[in-house]
Amino acid sequence: MATEPLMICSENGAIGLEAGLRVLRAGGRALDALEAAALPVELNRQDRTVGIGGVPNLLKQVQLDAGIMDGATLSVGAVAALEGYLEPVRVARKVLELLPHSLLVGPGAARFAQEHGFEQAEHLTAEAEAQWRARLQERGVWPVDEDHLTECCRRALREERWGGTVNFIALDRAGDLAACVSTSGIGWKYPGRVGDSPQAGAGFYADNRCGAACCTGRGELAIQGGTALRTVIHLEQGLAPLEAGTRAMQFLRRVRDGWGGGMNLLVLDRTGRHAGFSSVTGRKYAYQSISMDEYAMEERTCVEIGQEETQERYPF
Ligand code: ASP
Repeated sequence: MATEPLMICSENGAIGLEAGLRVLRAGGRALDALEAAALPVELNRQDRTVGIGGVPNLLKQVQLDAGIMDGATLSVGAVAALEGYLEPVRVARKVLELLPHSLLVGPGAARFAQEHGFEQAEHLTAEAEAQWRARLQERGVWPVDEDHLTECCRRALREERWGGTVNFIALDRAGDLAACVSTSGIGWKYPGRVGDSPQAGAGFYADNRCGAACCTGRGELAIQGGTALRTVIHLEQGLAPLEAGTRAMQFLRRVRDGWGGGMNLLVLDRTGRHAGFSSVTGRKYAYQSISMDEYAMEERTCVEIGQEETQERYPF
């Protein structure tokens, strides 16, 4: 019997599930369901980690990253450090469909968004700006010294909790899997910093033959651990989602860059089995299949990844 179409997402994505499920119920494609589901999150001004309302970088610019992958063709579209455009996942999807490229950054990404008629908007909200300034004041780096951004970045991000970003994975009626991520990245980041979210293999991966995975958390960890692809390879090797994700999380213990940070991972296999993970306790994820009237929240399995910050990296 064919698996029932479904979606899973990070907790903050629950507000978009209904829009995605409508697409799947109508027999639509997983990629279209992702676009529909991501949009309400990207437009949610209350979410300080995705789209409009995101906390800005050190120069007070909101720079957005997004990526999307089609598990049927392994096609990827992504944008990084995109400024001023709504719907970054839709822009990423257009890259996937129209260009012989996978990732556009900065002004090139904005130019592409403009060429294809995407709407522009001011992304910095008063609330996000206040949060941004308060942290800089608290860390003694206000006003920002633009000649010494490295030091500002190190101070501002010390003991950062790294929470946010939205993940969605969908499985449609045809058995196609797709995954997407959208984020404003970590606030107070160095201008131009790009995390895992627009990087296939790090922040997201999907392969119809076995399954899909997505990450949130400190992107540098997922980049160094190849976390999304590593998870999918474990599925390909025949592991169940719970085991595949646990192993990919445990691999992060080998990362010793000293900057600490947490990781969260979602996994959906091609048969509809899913699992969620976090390096801290108490985190959840949401899922909904087309026969469910409402989404359900599931506890993430906590896998300790040993990323305590080493104080010698912080001489201030
Ligand atoms: N993974 C995102 C990044 O590193 C941030 C997050 O998920 O909180 O940009």
